[in-house]
Amino acid sequence: MIPLSEPDLSGNENTYLAECVSTNFVSSVGPFVTRLEKLAAEITNSGAAVATSSGTTALHAVLHQMGVRENDHVIIPSFTFIATANAVAHCKATPIVLDIDQSRWCLSASLLEDFLKNACFQDAQGRLIFSETGKSIKAILPVFAMGLPADMNSISNIAKKYDIPILIDAAAAIGAKYRNLSLGEVEADYVVISMNGNKLVTAGGGGLVLAKNEKLGLDLKHLTTTARVGKSYDHDIVGFNYRMTNLQAAVGLAQCERIEEFLYRKLEIANNYKEAFSDIKGVKSFPSVDDSVSSNWLSGIFLPDSSEAEMDSIRSLLRSSKIEAKPFWKPIHRQEPYRNVPNVLNNGSDSIWFRVLPLPCSTNLSLKQQEFVISTVRGLLL
Ligand SMILES: *Cc1c(COP(=O)(O)O)cnc(C)c1O
Repeated sequence: MIPLSEPDLSGNENTYLAECVSTNFVSSVGPFVTRLEKLAAEITNSGAAVATSSGTTALHAVLHQMGVRENDHVIIPSFTFIATANAVAHCKATPIVLDIDQSRWCLSASLLEDFLKNACFQDAQGRLIFSETGKSIKAILPVFAMGLPADMNSISNIAKKYDIPILIDAAAAIGAKYRNLSLGEVEADYVVISMNGNKLVTAGGGGLVLAKNEKLGLDLKHLTTTARVGKSYDHDIVGFNYRMTNLQAAVGLAQCERIEEFLYRKLEIANNYKEAFSDIKGVKSFPSVDDSVSSNWLSGIFLPDSSEAEMDSIRSLLRSSKIEAKPFWKPIHRQEPYRNVPNVLNNGSDSIWFRVLPLPCSTNLSLKQQEFVISTVRGLLL
């Protein structure tokens, strides 16, 4: 089977892992965590980076740090991996699901503006309250879907107007740029990256929080590492054990060392697919926009006129040719735990999600493999 997106571990992973074992630093103490955090901050031009046990725990910790609690809302897009919504629910808050724009498949800035203006009001303390529930809007959580940045200029202007902080879920967008800004420079309070096995860089499992400055990074580090003060068992707040281990960081560091090479390969693969299907009517590639550079986490095709049955049949035919194919993100408002949370839909995510067909795009995909994928898909479409 040619997998969709598997890690390439042919760099320093082996050496660094062996070093963890030979030095006995396999747990949360050890040099690789610090080295990974330093390199991640450099790559993304961030004030600070904090390594965590997963992207989900990174999102949860940041939302907690932002003060998101019971009786709060966080605005998320409908088209995302369920972890975005779960992180809000882990704070006992309720997500509000807003739909996406067709040009980027990310949180729609116009829906956001409409929603805050018409469905919310400012209370006496200056908090923004959702009229329908009486709960306050505590944060906006845009997602860089497929690795492509959201319309951050519009979103951050709206957020500023209402004084609401922004956390970006850039799980698979390390290396992406918005108006030439790296993830750490984009207008947002925090940015989260995932280092799960299927993402651009992996630590086996893990996450990174990008913060604007060292102080915010240290606060987050404190929260995610049991909030210990000093060397004995003193803890000053209810912290989380969301630490990344030295073992994970060893792999993560070796991966981040190769980020430029990985991004280049992802772009090459995306361009090959774009070109290979450009002559077929009704076949599109994933969104691209002039103001942004995508990390091209996943690439493939989008079939805007196909039915669910046609898509299912294409996927199963691909699988029988030993090419991995599975449905992509089912929108949040269609997921059992979030069917009843408030939402504002524009058919954006409902009309695309089952028509998105990611194709194999591991950085170590060979040219021959990609040619095989292309000819097989063309055979199914023509
Ligand atoms: C992968 C992913 C996450 C969660 O990251 P984990 O490391 O798997 O917990 C969150 N949001 C999005 C958009 C993702 O793709």
